[in-house]
Amino acid sequence: MNEQSIETLRARIAGDFVVPGDPGWDEARRAWNLAVDQRPAAVALPESAEDVAEIVRFARRHGFRVAPQGTGHNSGALAIDGDILLKTERMRAVSIDPAARTARVDAGVLWTEVTAAAAAHGLAGLSGSSPDVGVVGYSLGGGISWLGRRYGLSANSVTAVELVTADGRLLRVDADHEPDLFWALRGGGGSFGVVTALELRLYPVREVYAGILFFPLERGAQVLNAWREWAETVPDEVTSVGRFLQFPPIPAIPEPLRGKSFVVVEATFLMDWFAASTILQPLRALNPAMDTFATIPVTDLEHLHMDPDHPVPGYGDGMLLRELDAEAIDALVAVAGVNARSPLLSVEIRHLGGALAEAQPESGALAKLDAKFALFAVGMTPTPESRTAVELHVHAVKKALSRWDAGRAYLNFAESRSPGASIWAPEAYARLRRVKAKWDANDVLRSNHPVAPAERRHARVATRIRPTRVTAPSRTARRQP
Ligand SMILES: Cc1cc2nc3c(=O)[nH]c(=O)nc-3n(C[C@H](O)[C@H](O)[C@H](O)COP(=O)(O)OP(=O)(O)OC[C@H]3O[C@@H](n4cnc5c(N)ncnc54)[C@H](O)[C@@H]3O)c2cc1C
Repeated sequence: MNEQSIETLRARIAGDFVVPGDPGWDEARRAWNLAVDQRPAAVALPESAEDVAEIVRFARRHGFRVAPQGTGHNSGALAIDGDILLKTERMRAVSIDPAARTARVDAGVLWTEVTAAAAAHGLAGLSGSSPDVGVVGYSLGGGISWLGRRYGLSANSVTAVELVTADGRLLRVDADHEPDLFWALRGGGGSFGVVTALELRLYPVREVYAGILFFPLERGAQVLNAWREWAETVPDEVTSVGRFLQFPPIPAIPEPLRGKSFVVVEATFLMDWFAASTILQPLRALNPAMDTFATIPVTDLEHLHMDPDHPVPGYGDGMLLRELDAEAIDALVAVAGVNARSPLLSVEIRHLGGALAEAQPESGALAKLDAKFALFAVGMTPTPESRTAVELHVHAVKKALSRWDAGRAYLNFAESRSPGASIWAPEAYARLRRVKAKWDANDVLRSNHPVAPAERRHARVATRIRPTRVTAPSRTARRQP
């Protein structure tokens, strides 16, 4: 990759191609997770599927791998080693087909954009807890939504995928066209192509009954035990989370919560308020300090979990739990409860089951989650010291719960590097590796949770993919991102 080849590429794409030393380099390489210092060989900012194809062909010609990225929410797991980071943040078109109840989203679209566009037609997608997570990264990895126990993983609501293959071809795949590749993309992550657009099913949900019960942190064991017993009894129309929350004393946190710690139950009910209130009653009877439950527009769900809607530095990791008994709650309280001196902002347990646990014949590579609960622990890491403390504590939480480990990681909640065999079931992983071998035998596409091609060709990969040096072209000739 020299000055001339970079300028030739720039002339061929509508987007930008930024290399080290360019003005705007640090902005271009930044991830949503500000604690992750991404150092790629170059950052490509395509504006269309054709741009993506040009960039992938360019990368191949010059012996580079390509790492697609939407927002960088899961950048902690991505090992960029002199690769071209392909950021889709400028590809932002959303269109809704109200009659077919589907959305078509470009690769860089955030969930908040789909939520707003779908709600205008009385529809909702299977968004997660955060408004600014990318629809594509989330759906390729599974996608646990507030509506998940009723409608399943977002990956299994994907009806078609448009992508650029590792050899630079534009393709549209669905159940009838390249079904194996379509299967792999739905839950297998970003190893199989650079996705340029997705089509997803939407559901007729305008309003939900949802909210949070806040209790003092001291009541952790009592509240979480009551919640886990309650969760086992609720219908699939109820999706809930039990959680320790320790808010930092910073102005960004609203006054009643700032600097305070709680054990909370968050939940969403797909039913009217009367039916929902009846189901919620046993938890309300515990006399929470604050109760925010109400009927709300489905668009407000993106704030229920109080996730940051802008980039922050953090470290988190998760695990799937085969079950949650009283001993597990004791273990959790000991490591994250009132006397644990935990530096973590949030330790949450999400109730799975329902449609999240039911594979359909047409499901993708992550057909279901074989676990009753999912745990995720996270802390803010603005300084190296806080990073060390948070990392140690996240690992301590996972270790404390290891007896209840379901034996498999969930791709979207795995923010450290996790081998494929720990994410997918053996049969699915073997099939994913065969699909990878067919579509990207030389492992050009680098995912945060990579799937290696079935036929290993280490020797050829090593010689063919070794990156050449980047020679920065003159600054004056360059367009800015
Ligand atoms: C605050 C917060 C809240 C979250 N809430 C939830 C939740 O409720 N439910 C849930 O399931 N998960 C949740 N997650 C996890 C989230 O789904 C994952 O981090 C997911 O990978 C984010 O996708 P992204 O595109 O935003 O991130 P990125 O880091 O940009 O992408 C992650 C990976 O997806 C792949 N990818 C992205 N775009 C493309 C593309 N165009 N083509 C090919 N591959 C691509 C790549 O392999 C990339 O490394 C949350 C994460 C955070 C930080």
